[in-house]
Amino acid sequence: MNKKTVKDIDLKNKRVLMRVDFNVPMADGKVTDDKRIKAALPTIKYVLEQGASIILMSHLGRPKSASDLTFSLRAASETLSALLATPVKMAPDCVGSEVEKMAKELKAGDVLMLENTRFHAGEEKNDLDLAKQMAALGDVYVNDAFGSAHRAHSSTEGIARFLPAVSGFLMEQELEYLGRAVANPVHPYIAILGGAKISDKILVVETLLSKCDKLIIGGGMANTFLAAQGLNMQDSLVEAESLELAKSIMSKSKGKLILPVDAVIADKFEAEANTQIVDVDKIPAGWRMLDVGPKTLELYKTSLDGVKLVVWNGPVGVFEMPKFAEGTFALARMLAESGAVTVIGGGDSASAVKKAGVAKQMTHVSTGGGASLEFLEGKELPGVAALLDK
Ligand code: AMP
Repeated sequence: MNKKTVKDIDLKNKRVLMRVDFNVPMADGKVTDDKRIKAALPTIKYVLEQGASIILMSHLGRPKSASDLTFSLRAASETLSALLATPVKMAPDCVGSEVEKMAKELKAGDVLMLENTRFHAGEEKNDLDLAKQMAALGDVYVNDAFGSAHRAHSSTEGIARFLPAVSGFLMEQELEYLGRAVANPVHPYIAILGGAKISDKILVVETLLSKCDKLIIGGGMANTFLAAQGLNMQDSLVEAESLELAKSIMSKSKGKLILPVDAVIADKFEAEANTQIVDVDKIPAGWRMLDVGPKTLELYKTSLDGVKLVVWNGPVGVFEMPKFAEGTFALARMLAESGAVTVIGGGDSASAVKKAGVAKQMTHVSTGGGASLEFLEGKELPGVAALLDK
């Protein structure tokens, strides 16, 4: 990675302002999944061990006003305090004189959590005044929030203009593993894309096709490709406006595309629908494709034989419903057994490998859905671009 990390700068007696992703699920004022908080611990601990104090900042949800305390980060600060076994002070805001005073009083080893950055409307507009006020709280800036790095916000991009800015370990790991998919990947390299629509993923299809040896397309996306080949997909999700695009991709793909050959079809888009398994050219009227079938899974298995690198983004079926989850889960198990470096984009694919019980067998499961997709598209993420080069 060509960006400086916390290991490249002197942190002793510094006040380290660190952007983390504590956008955690909450219920009844409590954190219900502390995975994201745990993911930030290695960097937090390292910074404290260097003799620094730390000021943490994050967004949480989409608050409409600063008085909406359901979006307060207080509960996250309490969870962090328990995990670190250290008191974590909670600031009333993320900027302002009272917060400045709290920041000034920090001693080496102290931890201060700022209040939700989105309590200020300027945050999402990358307001530089707000960024400057945030920057005034610390001596150096560390970004460990990969999941927010695709957004140029005051706490992810603007702030880096006012302080020496480096990455944390989580960010470093994300860039390292996702980077393997876009820069000099090892071969054979198979990319897998699923999810609902191709219109959302067109750039990533093109970037991956230019790098990989085979591209497996499943999920709703595959329907549009099959329809573009002239198949009648009946009531399946097909994007009529993307048919031409699908044709042009197929003509340029030099035989790299692997599309489903059979399907689990349903008479309704419902968990309790009636189902059948048919070849993709035999979907009866009134039915829709909601998962890939067993012949397609065999095809995946043979394609994955001997693979060295797999990048996966998006489920190959409606995996939220048990009747249409087998394709996605079987694929997750195949990746676990493949012996390849396996890089899983965030969002639905991350939750699919978790639900399939194989998350730990993956080389890397990204913490950022939108950010990993934009990275795989080959875009430079603003929150990463803003960090100091090595
Ligand atoms: P995305 O956000 O584009 O990655 O799409 C993820 C969604 O695609 C999941 O909620 C899946 O249920 C959905 N999906 C996967 N396969 C299909 C399909 N064959 N038809 C409709 N939706 C699908």
